[in-house]
Amino acid sequence: MTEASESTTPEEAYLRALIANGLLIPMGVDGVYGRSAVFEDVLDRFGALVSGWGVENGAEAIRFPPVMNRHDFEHSGYMKNFPQLAGTIHSFCGNDRDHLALRKKMEAGEDWTADQKAIDIVVTPAACYSLYPMMAKRGALKPEGALFDVYSWCLRHEPSLDPARMQLFRMREYVRLGSAEQVFDFRQQWMERGQKLIASLELPASLDVANDPFFGRQGKLLADSQRELNLKFELLIPITSTEKPTACLSFNYAQDYFGQLWSIPMADGTPCHSACVAFGMERIALALFRHHGFDPKRWPESVRRTLWG
Ligand code: ATP
Ligand code: ZN
Repeated sequence: MTEASESTTPEEAYLRALIANGLLIPMGVDGVYGRSAVFEDVLDRFGALVSGWGVENGAEAIRFPPVMNRHDFEHSGYMKNFPQLAGTIHSFCGNDRDHLALRKKMEAGEDWTADQKAIDIVVTPAACYSLYPMMAKRGALKPEGALFDVYSWCLRHEPSLDPARMQLFRMREYVRLGSAEQVFDFRQQWMERGQKLIASLELPASLDVANDPFFGRQGKLLADSQRELNLKFELLIPITSTEKPTACLSFNYAQDYFGQLWSIPMADGTPCHSACVAFGMERIALALFRHHGFDPKRWPESVRRTLWG
């Protein structure tokens, strides 16, 4: 690891070291990187470990592309809660004359993006977001509820020099839909399991209550109430700081928010409750590199066995 100069933060120093060791490849935008084969192998092996720990519950695995239907996105309320994080997609939709104007603007170095039009998709902000509209079309849940395994690249517009805060990253989730009791039990079970899973990788971790980064003044109230109701917990692992460890797993209980919003009924007709456990895949890889070194071949034998068998 390279020595940090006085003015660099620990986050920047770790980012530089990851780049110097070839694990991340800078692309000229904070929070957006290429990944080396070594980095991807670690991330994939961790994914397989998560599958192993979840297999007994028999989740239905679904892989959506890293975009979602814009109408569904609008309906989801994301712009009400997290407008600052959203990544919408725009395209040129004009005629020849518009094209000429576009080219002129680009050549003159002027802003050409204002003439672009929002297309029918936006970039996925959380892996589970396409699941609820799908469930809305399936009708009432079975009495035992439902369990899904989702995995997606996600975009959050939060440029940062902290390598653990990326703009594009992967999120794996188990999402449980059912009665309040069913989903609460699920979350409880995963809070315990998640801690054991991370301990099996010999990483230090602590569980804490948390809140989502709701936007604005009204958002503060939402965040406070989320905390008060213990709706969100995070498993924190020190990556660049021991005082401010990084949220690597989240355990969210959404009450019947999505069930109501999307009209997903339980067998008795009332809106379902939902909860999820989310794994920040890059963050866990970064934690492994931080604690065990940049070369997985030299990681403790026990950790290697857990990941590579
Ligand atoms: P934070 O409080 O650090 O911003 P969050 O509350 O926004 O995290 P969630 O919305 O619960 O995180 O997302 C689920 C998981 O995705 C998190 O536990 C984390 O591991 C990961 N994650 C979230 N944001 C990022 C990011 N910008 N870069 C990398 N991983 C992320
Ligand atoms: Zn979720």
